[in-house]
Amino acid sequence: MNGYRAQLLRFDAQGQALYDSDGLLVTERGSDGVQRIVDAGPYRAVAARHRDLPVTHWMDRLIAPGFIDMHVHYPQTDIIGSPADGLLPWLTNYTFPAETRFADPGHAAEVAHVFFTELLRNGVTTALTFATAHPASVDAFFHEAQKRGLRMMSGKVLQDRNSPDGLRDETEQSLIDSETLIQRWHGRGRLGYAITPRFAPTSSEAQLRGAGELAARHPQTWIHSHVAENRDEVRWVAELYPRTRSYLAVYEDFGLLRGRAVYAHCIHLDDTDRALMHASGAAAAVSPTSNLFLGSGFFNFRDAEAAGMLHGLASDVGGGTSFSPFRTMLAAYFVGREGQSKPGLSLAPSHLWWLHTGGAARALGLEGVVGTLATGSEADFVVLNPDAIPLLSRKAGRAENLEELLFALIVLGDDRVVERVVTA
Ligand SMILES: [Zn+2]
Repeated sequence: MNGYRAQLLRFDAQGQALYDSDGLLVTERGSDGVQRIVDAGPYRAVAARHRDLPVTHWMDRLIAPGFIDMHVHYPQTDIIGSPADGLLPWLTNYTFPAETRFADPGHAAEVAHVFFTELLRNGVTTALTFATAHPASVDAFFHEAQKRGLRMMSGKVLQDRNSPDGLRDETEQSLIDSETLIQRWHGRGRLGYAITPRFAPTSSEAQLRGAGELAARHPQTWIHSHVAENRDEVRWVAELYPRTRSYLAVYEDFGLLRGRAVYAHCIHLDDTDRALMHASGAAAAVSPTSNLFLGSGFFNFRDAEAAGMLHGLASDVGGGTSFSPFRTMLAAYFVGREGQSKPGLSLAPSHLWWLHTGGAARALGLEGVVGTLATGSEADFVVLNPDAIPLLSRKAGRAENLEELLFALIVLGDDRVVERVVTA
């Protein structure tokens, strides 16, 4: 067993923040080699329950759950900050050329290494990640995640039409490759496979149908795609599927809405779509820095909440502009301010934090596994040092309650604050 003494931020199952100004977190390695949390709470009370516990003291530091990125593209690490008029020209001019290079396993391994280094430097311990259409890109991703012992999900991108040479795959082979990769990686240690149609316009009906059949055969896998990001894209889907009620309904028709199905963006949805998300158990990966950068629109937190639709936060690098959860939470705050049926929201700092930790875990079907520091969950956590940035140090020192402390971190914090990352 190991004890860690610091300020402690945890979440209960309802998403309420639990805070100890002098806390103790106790972990123990299971027979599977994974460290789990066995106790947590105020230092005095917890220490009294564990005699002779070796304790690491991190005074003036805050232990919090490792951040969870619900949607990110590791092959787009190098195209972060590429300017474009909007989503579709951005895909054509930057994304597709960059992804074509992932046919080379050496290139994929090199970028995977950089990607995981960036995630961890920013305190992100779990991510649902796009690879590319090349199976080798998935192997490179999982090899690197396995080497670092991380809980990670990814999958081969399915795109058999409206895609350039070098990325476009072949319908039948793409499904065979996906099945092979599921057998190879899903459930191996802390790794999970995600069936990953890029988005409706780049898959034939046969490929979407095959993806839905795979998802039914492997109910514990994830489904990962995009929906309703941009108005031009929504119009394009309406042309391709003129008889389908909505963009989201295309995925429903092919059996691609269920628990552990994660759709990035979900901006241009209507109430029927939101009800469908809720009823199916599918989740939205809200990607605010990406949506602001590409001018796609504003996620409607109020309507999502009212519909009971699962949702959490995501960076969407490289459409997103930062790996930092602090940047993402601040952008989500701006979106809440601006993008709702009026008046705008002031999302609570602890709620923004929940959407990037425990709430994201729940949306991913990983409740109780990561994201809250609850007893029995895996010990992925960050150690934050508000004194790493002068202005933040000054502001955090004046915080009179948890919400003020968390908001200071969200507004003024970045990777400099992440002093240490401990993974199970
Ligand atoms: Zn994306």
